[in-house]
Formats: sequence, structure tokens, C-alpha cells
Amino acid sequence: MANPSLLILAGDGIGPEVMAEVKKIIGWMGAKRGVHFDVSEDLVGGCAYDKHGTPLHDDTMAKAQAVDAVLLGAVGGPKYDVLDFSVKPERGLLRLRKEMDLFSNLRPAQCFDALADFSSLKKEVVAGLDIVIVRELTSGVYFGEPRGIFKEGNERVGINTQRYTESEIARVARSAFELARKRNNKVCSMEKANVMESGILWREVVQEVHDREYPDVALTHMYADNGAMQLCRWPKQFDVIVTDNLFGDVLSDMAAMLTGSLGMLPSASLGLPMANGRPKALYEPVHGSAPDIAGQGKANPIACILSFAMALRYSFGMGEDATRVEKAVEKVLADGVRTADLMGPEGGTPVSTTQMGDAIIAALDASL
Ligand code: NAD
Repeated sequence: MANPSLLILAGDGIGPEVMAEVKKIIGWMGAKRGVHFDVSEDLVGGCAYDKHGTPLHDDTMAKAQAVDAVLLGAVGGPKYDVLDFSVKPERGLLRLRKEMDLFSNLRPAQCFDALADFSSLKKEVVAGLDIVIVRELTSGVYFGEPRGIFKEGNERVGINTQRYTESEIARVARSAFELARKRNNKVCSMEKANVMESGILWREVVQEVHDREYPDVALTHMYADNGAMQLCRWPKQFDVIVTDNLFGDVLSDMAAMLTGSLGMLPSASLGLPMANGRPKALYEPVHGSAPDIAGQGKANPIACILSFAMALRYSFGMGEDATRVEKAVEKVLADGVRTADLMGPEGGTPVSTTQMGDAIIAALDASL
């Protein structure tokens, strides 16, 4: 059977620095676990603009459509702020998401015990937290028509439209149920069915998909405002949360920050299954290109490494290896290895990006 294929788009700023540490882990998987990937690399964002005059070349787009999974570092930087909107680095990322039709955005909020003090919530509320928010990414109020700012009598009116079709709701619901089956088998769906018709339809369709296809998964429904409160009060009550584009935008940022540093947060964006049964998929850290620390060896590579772990689990069915990588991260953090962004008030000497990657490789070695 062919090796699983991976397209690496390291991008700009700290993107190539954190991706270098992921490449070490890919190498380790081949050497120590006998798992080999066909890896290709290309440009996205500002570096693609520098070379091709566009943030994503058509050939790169075609490669992204053909591989089993895309792994992206970060795009952007002050050098590109002056560019026209149509060729800004972020447009490359948006094109990938749109043309691959990545409608299901997975944002885990996982709190490693060693970092529980970093949260703004009490340690006992977040220690051991492990939830995932599934946000619908390609429809809803950010895309619905009509939209715009119009004149109405003597004043202006701003309009956006929340619009969801049954099939759009059903496919993201399926994605959440599938995910729950690989975790603790619990989904909480969040909307505002009390005040929005789109919320009523959301609730009905999620329930129908559940009853028809996933009766084994425990499903609950919650109004999104209560969901926000519950996430602060006792986030460990959740396993998988599924919600629309707007609520998901807000709730996933909130949930992610329960866990501390931006340098720790991975994400996955999934689309429909391809011919080989794997979903179209793009994995990336939540953080940007961090121009303030780029080129200084200070970046935390863990978000990118955990994004690769998500690829192992969700694209390649290698849950055991994904857990191995996550446990290695947990181990180095428990041992007190910290990049600068993870230094607490007690201080200490931070390790570099490369040293953090090496420590994770050493922990992987120790796991064998
Ligand atoms: P950012 O995420 O790049 O940085 C915010 C802060 O967090 C900075 O102080 C940075 O040093 C720190 N930080 C981020 N990642 C870190 C890591 N791995 N290790 C240690 N510290 C880390 O956000 P920003 O400063 O608002 O944006 C910078 C550029 O990145 C902009 O051009 C923006 O458009 C772009 N951006 C890209 C993406 C993406 O590629 N997905 C996401 C957000 C922002």
C-alpha cells in the first residue's frame, strides 16, 4: 500500500521554525515506528507572494487537493501589510479552506496538568481538561445573503443573514459524532433555538442525524449563551461541542484560552471524505507568524507538533501514535522544559524551539 501523503506548507515568520520540529517527529516515526510518509513541501502566504506574486500558486492548490493531509505553519507579517487585499498572505489560507471545502473546524482545548496554573480559571477547574469544539466553518452568518450596509429612511442599517441548509448542518453534525466516537462518545450541540429559526432547524437536524445514524453517542442540546457560562463554570462536563460558525468562533477562542498559551493550541479543518475514505484535511496551529519573535529561536513548536498529532489521529487512523506524541509533550512539560512563552512568574531559563523539539524526541524515544 502507498505511504500516506503529506503536503507541508511552512509559510512565514515562525512557521518554518516550528515546522522544522514537526519534521523531526516525522523522521522519528519512520526510523523508530516504521511509519513512512510521502512528504512534499511548498510555499504559502508571503513567501509564495515573493516568489510567484500570489499567496497560493495554482500548482500548490492542486497538490493540496491531491494529498491525504496538508500541514500548515503560519502566514503573514508586517512586510506584507501594504499589499492589496486580494494578494495578502491570509488569502492563501482562505483559498485552501474554501477550495478544499473544509466545513468542520476542530479546536481542541486540552490543559496539560503542568500548565494548569497558566489558566485564568482555578487549577481544579481546568487541570486535565480535554474537550473539542467543532465549529461549522463555511456557512452561516459570515456568508449569508443579503448582507451589507444600506440606507433606510434617514439612517443606515447593517445587515447580515444567518442561513443554514439542512445538508450543511447534517454534515458538520456527522463530523462531530464521528469525532465523539473516537473520544468519549458525548456531543453537546449549541445554538439559540429559543430566539432563532436557524437555531430551531439546527437542533432538529442534529437530533435527526443522531437518531438515524449515531444513536450510540450521547447527545445533549444547550443554548449557546448558557454554553459560554458552562465553559467557564465547569468545562470538564463536555467532550465534543458542535456549533455554528459565529457561536463557534467565539466559544472556541474562549475554550482555547482556558488552557493558557497560544503556542500550545492545535487545530484541524476537515472536509468530505475522499475516494480513500480519508477526509480532506488541513492541520495548523492556531497562532500566527509571530513576527515579534521570528528568527530568534524562541517560538514554541508544541501547537504545530500537536496539530501533526491530530493529523495522525484524524487523517491516518494512527490514534496510538497520536497519543504517544501527546504523552511525550505532556512528559517534557511535567519535567519543567519550557519555551519563553511558558515561563511562569517564578522565572527560570527557557529552552529554544530546537531544544523543545529535541526534548520531545527524547521523550518519544523513552516511550518505546
Ligand atoms: P500571532 O499569533 O502571530 O502572535 C501573537 C502573540 O503570541 C505574539 O506576541 C507572538 O510572539 C506570540 N506567539 C504566537 N505564537 C507563538 C508561539 N508558537 N510561541 C511563542 N509565542 C507565540 O498573532 P499576531 O501578532 O496578531 O499576527 C502576526 C501575523 O500573523 C499577522 O500577519 C497575522 O495576520 C498573521 N496570522 C496568521 C495566522 C495563520 O497563519 N493562521 C493566524 C493569526 C495571525
